[in-house]
Amino acid sequence: MSPAGPDPAWLAALAENLACRQRLGFHLVEGSPDGLASLAAGLNPRQSASAPRNPKPGVKDAPSAGPEDFSHAGGGLAQVRAAMGECVRCPLHEGRRHIVFGKGAESAELMFIGEGPGAEEDRLGEPFVGRAGRLLDKMLAAVGLTMDRVYITNIVKCRPPQNRDPQAGEVEACRPFLAGQIKAVSPRIICALGRPAAKALLGGDAPISAIRGNWHSYQGVPLLPTFHPAYLLRSPERKGQAYQDLKALARALEQGPPEV
Ligand code: SF4
Repeated sequence: MSPAGPDPAWLAALAENLACRQRLGFHLVEGSPDGLASLAAGLNPRQSASAPRNPKPGVKDAPSAGPEDFSHAGGGLAQVRAAMGECVRCPLHEGRRHIVFGKGAESAELMFIGEGPGAEEDRLGEPFVGRAGRLLDKMLAAVGLTMDRVYITNIVKCRPPQNRDPQAGEVEACRPFLAGQIKAVSPRIICALGRPAAKALLGGDAPISAIRGNWHSYQGVPLLPTFHPAYLLRSPERKGQAYQDLKALARALEQGPPEV
């Protein structure tokens, strides 16, 4: 901490995150939701007259509704996206070209969650549109799953530099948005693509090869981890196992997911 005290932007992000978690039912600190929201608003440099309003040239600083606005029951994906605004809650905003929110059906039965956008996704603002996305499309088609049954997103919505894994603080900063998306879509089944996504959703740090193909639970929703398609491009010998996992997902949609 500097002699002048903690960075106001960091404090604002922390207060917003706590307020949002409280709305979602995680009571980690004492304090009213309104109080935390006010604290966040008061500390947020984007809402301060003395602070620069736009951290990136050429980026419109869209007004944010505040994360608390999407956490109550009935909030849809549009509300989650509106609450995100031109988010600067973690350092990943500095290198992004586009926020990559998600794609697919709001009423999807199956939700895929990867780790973060790559170069193509960052350029186009859509998840899973590069080589890895095309492989996922082929695999979905191979097991008879159509996009109207699927929603796809990532644990962080801005591209990590050099496609590194998202760091813990970045995952936590973005987690309220992911939680809002899961709540809005309310999928029957979740598939975590790769270790960072599985770790963010299930905790632990097991290699994906050790947990893939086994059913887990994310807040009562059956969750099956499998390999990330980007990994499959580098390790094609794993495609057979990933295909088995997708067949298990398709089967679970038709016959009902297992008890977890
Ligand atoms: S990764 Fe998430 S929390 Fe971080 S700046 Fe992007 S949208 Fe905001």
